[in-house]
Amino acid sequence: MVDLSLDLSEPHSHLVHVCLRCTPTTPVLRLRLPAWTPGSYLIRDYARHLEGLEIRQGDQRLLPSRIDPSGWRLELPSGEPLEIRYRVLAADLTVRTCHLDGDHGFLALAALVLEVEGERWAPHRLSLCLPEGWRPFVPLPLQADGSWLARDFDQLLDTPVEVGPHREHHFSVAGVPHRWVCWDAMAAAAADGLLMARPTLLQDLAAVCEACCRLMGEPVPAAPDYLFVLHLLDQGYGGLEHDTSTVLQFSHQSLRKPEGYRQLLQLAAHEYLHQWNVRRLRPAALCPIDYHSPVIVSGLWFAEGVTSYFDQLLPHLAGLSSEDDVIEDFGTDLNRYLLTPGRFHGQSLRQSSEEAWVKLYRREANSDDSQISYYLKGAILSLVLDLELRRAGSCLAQVLRDLWASFGRWGRGYREHDLLEAFTARSPALADRLPAWLDGFEDPDLPAYLQDVGLRLEPQRAQAPHLGLKASLQAGGALEVVRVLRSGPAQRAGVVLGDELIALDGLRLRKPEDLSTLLQADQRQSLTICRRGHLRSLAITAAPPAIERWRLLLDPAAGPGELERRRQWLGVVPC
Ligand SMILES: [Zn+2]
Repeated sequence: MVDLSLDLSEPHSHLVHVCLRCTPTTPVLRLRLPAWTPGSYLIRDYARHLEGLEIRQGDQRLLPSRIDPSGWRLELPSGEPLEIRYRVLAADLTVRTCHLDGDHGFLALAALVLEVEGERWAPHRLSLCLPEGWRPFVPLPLQADGSWLARDFDQLLDTPVEVGPHREHHFSVAGVPHRWVCWDAMAAAAADGLLMARPTLLQDLAAVCEACCRLMGEPVPAAPDYLFVLHLLDQGYGGLEHDTSTVLQFSHQSLRKPEGYRQLLQLAAHEYLHQWNVRRLRPAALCPIDYHSPVIVSGLWFAEGVTSYFDQLLPHLAGLSSEDDVIEDFGTDLNRYLLTPGRFHGQSLRQSSEEAWVKLYRREANSDDSQISYYLKGAILSLVLDLELRRAGSCLAQVLRDLWASFGRWGRGYREHDLLEAFTARSPALADRLPAWLDGFEDPDLPAYLQDVGLRLEPQRAQAPHLGLKASLQAGGALEVVRVLRSGPAQRAGVVLGDELIALDGLRLRKPEDLSTLLQADQRQSLTICRRGHLRSLAITAAPPAIERWRLLLDPAAGPGELERRRQWLGVVPC
């Protein structure tokens, strides 16, 4: 048994005081802080926020030696119980880091708890010391003494801890208890503004959760109980999945948009569906999880892409979004996908999954030229797979259910060939096509698949000639180049990121629209820029207007067969 006590009683210091107590079983012990948290594939080096490590055995202070930036080695004079104390700075407000201030606290325990060698599979008891008036929201079994018990280190790390003066609300899904806690960073303590603005929220969430169960063909959720934690900020978006809980980050700005509430339900549906896909139906590479080094998971496209695909359909399955909403949302995704050059000269879908650690979470100005998100392309491929499987009399939900029945339900990790077999069993044509789509840069025949369900893609050309750059007006008034398309006219002319646009053919450029007005296709023009304090002129030749948007539309010529297939497709679950 490892005892973990967390003292958050001085929230204004942003420091969490950690105390770990255990009885060592070996004469030499290693302590290591995880380097990442499952569900977010980036080495975060959480140890950078750890300070003041002090280890005692009885009256004796022990001096550990550091073996790497996140690890220590300790020689033990005796087998007496150990007390390990340190502090962690909690000042990073995301769903996978720690944040503590006068309003609330949120702890991603991977960022906080040292793994004690030999104790990974031992129970861990968690106790919290909180400021007066604050409540804990912890998705672990509560003990009679007010502590919580995790069966092992993995379950402890899978436990997001939210604390503060906020209230929790309850609803049930097929008789399984669910809790909802919202920390509204823009409102007074304990205010439930979102519930007041959206009185049907809990009902809607329950309907979305029930739709997830229906998608999986399960009478009840996989979790024995479930906690939703929402951080409602001015700006921000994100979510992290856990076995029996999720933490969502959403914004007031988004909620003000017409599609905002639907997007919140989609985010909740996404994380909720992960209790099956990725938490329990898990890639073998994550069985068990190595918390200290990046693990290559080539199936992330399935874990995230399939979940992203269904999250758009789940509110519809729950009766909370219309057919038009679904078409609009898929249209938005298809547009974003088709306009991302990285899809055809950057990464294949497999590469995108395997390179998550160094690319997806580390985006920069040129990323769209060299990357394609496995969330986005994974969702587009899932749409194609669903439509392909429907041609063969099956559907994507059926394959997900098959994999759940063979792997997830039993805690068996799946490998890539297991995925391939599951797809091929329902549609033999996928034996060749799926590997080609995962490794290649050529798209499936999107128009043909969309036509199956009476949809079509329509390109829209820009009004202005195409230069392949994006400029943005900076606070000081400079018109700065923030994106240069690879191999586009601007790059060929020598424009680079950070250039300040001054004039075109001697006429002053003051705002982004000025460029559109003055550009002429297929004509040599003189662009004056300022780079590193020096003016220079570049000869540019803009191309004719390019496609600036793809729209997904209902095909008015769709026949009864296509309309019936659309009805079945939007019904999501197997017929
Ligand atoms: Zn996800």
